[in-house]
Amino acid sequence: MTVSTAKRAEIEKGLSRREFLKFCTMMAGTLALPKSFSKNIVMALDAPARTPVIWLEFQDCAGCTEAFLRASRPTAAEVVLDVLSIDYHETIMAASGHLAEEAKAMTIEKGGYLLVVEGSIPMEEDGIYCCIGGRTAIDILEEAASNALAVIAVGSCATFGGIPKAAPNPTGAVSVMDLVTDKPIVNLSGCPYNPVNLTATVVHFLTFGELPAMDELHRPLFAHGARIHDNCERRGHFDAGKFVKKWGDEGHRLGWCLYEMGCKGPVTFHNCPAVRYNDGASWPVGSGHGCIGCSEPDFWEWGAYKTAKLQEITPPISFAPVQLPEAQISPAGAAAVGGLAGLAIGAAGAAAINQLSKSDGDDEETESPTETESPEGAGE
Ligand code: SF4
Repeated sequence: MTVSTAKRAEIEKGLSRREFLKFCTMMAGTLALPKSFSKNIVMALDAPARTPVIWLEFQDCAGCTEAFLRASRPTAAEVVLDVLSIDYHETIMAASGHLAEEAKAMTIEKGGYLLVVEGSIPMEEDGIYCCIGGRTAIDILEEAASNALAVIAVGSCATFGGIPKAAPNPTGAVSVMDLVTDKPIVNLSGCPYNPVNLTATVVHFLTFGELPAMDELHRPLFAHGARIHDNCERRGHFDAGKFVKKWGDEGHRLGWCLYEMGCKGPVTFHNCPAVRYNDGASWPVGSGHGCIGCSEPDFWEWGAYKTAKLQEITPPISFAPVQLPEAQISPAGAAAVGGLAGLAIGAAGAAAINQLSKSDGDDEETESPTETESPEGAGE
């Protein structure tokens, strides 16, 4: 009887069947699938065939490769690595030179592989700003994409051009989807992307034979379907008008909202608050720094410490405030104000704006987070 790859992985790496099944259930959860779909995932990962992968790096800092190598939840990473066959990855492969190029050429010729791309592609001067083995990134990408089942762009550079595309963009950097237009493509944005989302995307592809549902930017909805602000552990402080005003102040020590320190959580869509980084240990906002919006196009132009203006009305505009107004009124009066807030949006909005801009006795006029115009350079 043939022992399947995943089962071999369990045996060789000391994974129990229980851990393997737990991983499959966790993947179903990450993909926002019903728990019953974990059976399909088990069957897909138990298949003996390993899916080949070609991983290309262009204009990048290798941060996404670092994230991949440090993929947390070791059972997940190890199982997936045993299900995939990484045929070509310049940073981690043992082969080099002509041997490496031959391995890639053979994989491309056979087809049936997943292409992972990290880094942007320079188009100026016929692409001479990024050459590997005497060939331009343009040439290498077009060849590798030609026979791929699907393309997975990882990180801000590959998905939206990243820092290399920042003005004045001297190399003419573009994203993968600007060049590859005839293949299924998914963008796992972020700087770096989160390896949990790569694992989940690959598991989805192996289980269902297709890429997961995506938004208009080709980002998977399971990872980019929700606003960071709506799942943030500091959200209660935002609603209460409790904002950090200065790094290291009392509010900062108490874990208040980082909106006024430039947090872009309200205009950024990513599952960071749920999956976090480094084995789920923490994430930027959890560590005390505002979100810089790294999974959104052109985030590098926003200004990390510039306050984002909101386009949409969110609590406490439409909800009753969680605190009594500073001018004390009776509990009965507060309840009446709260009730009215749900009905009279305009009046409640004015009260909320007042509450937000006057937090912690700060009488100075501050930029309201409830502006309705598009943020300059930080549009959604
Ligand atoms: S503004 Fe930032 S820190 Fe504040 S609740 Fe939203 S995401 Fe969290």
